[in-house]
Amino acid sequence: MKIREVFDSYINSDKTKSSLKVHKGKVDKYITFIGNQDIEKALDESLLRKYIFDKKQNPKGKYDALKNFYHYYYEEILNLSKLNFPVFPIDTKELVSRNNPEKRRPVYFSKEFDFNCLFDDRHYEHLNNHGAALAVKASLALALSAGYDSGEMFPTNGEHEKAMKMDDVFFEEDYIKVRNFSSQSTVPFILIQGKNAEYVKEYYKLRLSFPITKKFQQSLFIANTWKTNELNFDTKITTKMIYYPHDLVSYMLKYITVKEGQPTPLITDLRANMVLHSLYNSKGSALQDIIELYGFPPFVKQAFEKYCMTTSRDSEPIFSVLSLDTAKSEESFIEDEDEKKKVESRISVIDRLVRDSVKVKKLKEIYGNSCQICNEQITLIDEISYSEVHHIQPFNKLHQGIDDKSNMIVVCPNHHKLFDMGIIALDPENHQRILHVDSKNPLHQKMLMANKHRLSSTHVRYHYENIFMPLRESLLETRKQGIR
Ligand SMILES: [Zn+2]
Repeated sequence: MKIREVFDSYINSDKTKSSLKVHKGKVDKYITFIGNQDIEKALDESLLRKYIFDKKQNPKGKYDALKNFYHYYYEEILNLSKLNFPVFPIDTKELVSRNNPEKRRPVYFSKEFDFNCLFDDRHYEHLNNHGAALAVKASLALALSAGYDSGEMFPTNGEHEKAMKMDDVFFEEDYIKVRNFSSQSTVPFILIQGKNAEYVKEYYKLRLSFPITKKFQQSLFIANTWKTNELNFDTKITTKMIYYPHDLVSYMLKYITVKEGQPTPLITDLRANMVLHSLYNSKGSALQDIIELYGFPPFVKQAFEKYCMTTSRDSEPIFSVLSLDTAKSEESFIEDEDEKKKVESRISVIDRLVRDSVKVKKLKEIYGNSCQICNEQITLIDEISYSEVHHIQPFNKLHQGIDDKSNMIVVCPNHHKLFDMGIIALDPENHQRILHVDSKNPLHQKMLMANKHRLSSTHVRYHYENIFMPLRESLLETRKQGIR
């Protein structure tokens, strides 16, 4: 039965008269949006989600209309009793949280939870489908070891371009490398080793040999490596058909966590769980590595907050990231009586540090990692180039420079050193002109090779007067003495 047919009977039904005026148009728009599909497919969770949460407008109206229509189909058309018809697959709570993903708290496993049980074969036996089991394990492994969220693995309409593709995975002898999706990170790939790498590898092999019939999935990494009608699933956990990888992974996550007596997180919450788990295991010291990989996006922030709130004072963790030049903020939270304020303050310190390093990253991008003085671009491995950022008025307690673009210049390591020592400077009268302590040096009076952002006179002059000039004068002095 097609959805239009059900819709026609819905419009003419007595039962729906009161709410119909409000809902009719929205259900109609939904049908236009997804096309006149088979009703079961049309009421599939991923399609409903796609429509309800797709655009910026408030999802509430669309939600109410589709829920009403959904119930109408199961109650009136299929004549199922209340007990048997499936619950509308989207929880009302999600309407609030979706609008504000930063405010939604992830669902966490218990502290002692063993992540290995997510991959335990006994949980997958009932599926009776090798391809489906491999796709789930690979997805879970990617979420846990590469911090992928559900949109990056199972993109909704219009987001296919951004999602993980077949050629985002690179196989090396004893590890694999996948694309890093974190926009806050400067690390382009994430290395996965051990069992997690094996799950991804095994799935990949099958994926290559399995015909992918859904056209939009053909370039995607996670795809239907099973036939929907061949899949067995536990109807106590869900009664709706499973069409797409996202549905299958959600279902398996629910199945396993119910069996293990754990709360069921969303697929997207797995990465916050992974971060929290690493913090517990390392007594907090993993934070620095985590930040290096992902930056400090909401899932890291939330896991860190949870960690601070659930860890007692005696097991005070090591936050090496705080040992940077932030003594002021550090003192203020130590004196804070209120535990919560302390946590918030720590989070804001880390957040600021990471945001600052994001500024550096963006500036390097503007110059394509090329030195503004000599245009040199250093290539490391795999086409990854390298540059440094020099703070013109040094960013430390003594010189009190600020961490802002207007105080930064992108340079190669050699020219960075010359700047730091005060051997070269920018001319305070013309920020594009380079000065060298040795006026015979070819660099002296040369112009910057690239100049795409505005510098602040204050910082340029500071470096010139307080670092460059003193060195130049002392060198001149030495030279005079030498001549004598
Ligand atoms: Zn250079």
